[in-house]
Amino acid sequence: MDNNHTQGTALGRSLKIAMAYLVTGALWILFSDAALERLVSDPVTLSRLQTWKGWAFVLVTAAVLCLVLLRQLRRDREQLHMRKAQQEEILRLSQFQQGVIDNANVWLNVLDPNGKVLVWNRAAERISGYTSDEITGSVEIWQKLYPDPGYRAWVIDRVRGIVAGEEEVEGLETRILAKHNGERLISWNSRALKDSRGEVAGSIAIGVDITEQRAAENALKASERKLANLMDSLPGMAYRCLYDEFWTMKFVSSGCEELTGYKPEDLVDNRKVAWAELIEPGDTSDVLRQVEGAIGNASTFSVEYRIRRATGESIWVWERGRGVEDDHGMVLEGIVLDVTERKRLEERLSELATLDPLTGQFNRRETERILQEELVRAERYGRQLAVLWVDLDHFKRVNDSWGHAIGDKVLRTVSLRLADSVRTVDTLGRFGGEEFLVVLPEMSVAEACDTAERLRRRVASEPVPVAAEQSLEMTVSIGVAVYPDHGESADELCNRADKAMYLAKSLGRNRTEVYTPAPAEDLTSDGT
Ligand code: GH3
Ligand code: MG
Ligand code: MG
Repeated sequence: MDNNHTQGTALGRSLKIAMAYLVTGALWILFSDAALERLVSDPVTLSRLQTWKGWAFVLVTAAVLCLVLLRQLRRDREQLHMRKAQQEEILRLSQFQQGVIDNANVWLNVLDPNGKVLVWNRAAERISGYTSDEITGSVEIWQKLYPDPGYRAWVIDRVRGIVAGEEEVEGLETRILAKHNGERLISWNSRALKDSRGEVAGSIAIGVDITEQRAAENALKASERKLANLMDSLPGMAYRCLYDEFWTMKFVSSGCEELTGYKPEDLVDNRKVAWAELIEPGDTSDVLRQVEGAIGNASTFSVEYRIRRATGESIWVWERGRGVEDDHGMVLEGIVLDVTERKRLEERLSELATLDPLTGQFNRRETERILQEELVRAERYGRQLAVLWVDLDHFKRVNDSWGHAIGDKVLRTVSLRLADSVRTVDTLGRFGGEEFLVVLPEMSVAEACDTAERLRRRVASEPVPVAAEQSLEMTVSIGVAVYPDHGESADELCNRADKAMYLAKSLGRNRTEVYTPAPAEDLTSDGT
């Protein structure tokens, strides 16, 4: 079209120039001849002048023609030069385009409306294993890439839809059979190509080989699933939470529901409730202190506290976790177990425990309970009741010279001898350290002093073997207090027996002393 236009203007211009030449020539011939005939009357001169005039005309027109042609030639040369530059530019562009198509890291193919391959870039060659020469202009590619007829029919159906301009696909995945590389998974983006009149001229498809990526994704999913299964089968609740004031949960395992009564999704991102709200207010600061301490030392923490379940019931939990840095900053990971049963059992066991583990004698609490019981009985029946406070003399030296284990052995031996020396109705209890309390029901001051002396002598007379052929001579100091003579309550009696024991110590140890009220004390007790 451009060419026709150029040709049209050239013809017009040539006609115009020819017309101008004709008119000028005709006018020149008409007027110059008439003018010469009027000016020159001599026919010889006239004829010579006319010849010169003719030559002059030819010379002038030749010069003008020469100028015009020169200008035209120069223009033509310029245009030729320009066109050449344009052609080079176009060549460069098309090479660039080809380069882009070839070197693109994605599979690029263009199909004509019949499904024949027009463009097949290098990535397409590399992924499929089929060269551009094998494929271009053929429709066999469909059988090659999709050998299964049913699957092939489905793929071709999709391609027809695209070529017909009925559909565009984005992320459509197909499984091709590559020439040498087995099955590959390709993700496609494809749409119809239209020409300048808007008619469908084929289709373009861009494919990405996602085989390895999908395999890695699947492997990750499988391991996540395994981990999730493992977490779900763990007792209690595994969690990952932000280190913020709400302990915002980012993940909790399914054990959450059994532990708290809330569904995992209720806790994640504090959707319904924050973990901080579940912690019993009295325990919050303790939890915070332990977690802060552990994070400061980059160590794990374990902490026991109470939480309130969805039902309102309070349970004991044991949490073990650690702080880790991730994209969210500091997060905590760990596990929370319900230890309510264990806690109850511990409480119950300590309630049930009545014996001192080292000596096997009654422990302090049980001794106090028995003393209390015996006091009630003594009061009810109007009888006396004696209390002996027994303390080993210089026991610290045993530990210092023989070590703690031998000290323990001495404590056990002495306690057995004491227990062996009292009646079955009497009670021996370890009150703590190397101090024992003996409760002697229905005993007067004199009888209690006899018993105390018997105990003291027994200990003093039998050295305690501590090593091969080595024994330690041990002694005890004993304080005596009697109900109701020296006190009415258990506390009073114990205090006064202790005081008497200290008196025995101050008087040289290895002796028995009966409580004697100080004068002021005496006044007070007299006054009551
Ligand atoms: P004193 O004659 O004044 O009573 O002297 P002491 O050394 O016996 O007095 P003190 O009360 O100062 O020392 C008691 C020591 O008993 C101190 C402590 O180390 C020791 N002790 C307390 N409980 C145990 C125990 O269970 N095993 C052992 N081996 N030693 C204990
Ligand atoms: Mg002591
Ligand atoms: Mg002592």
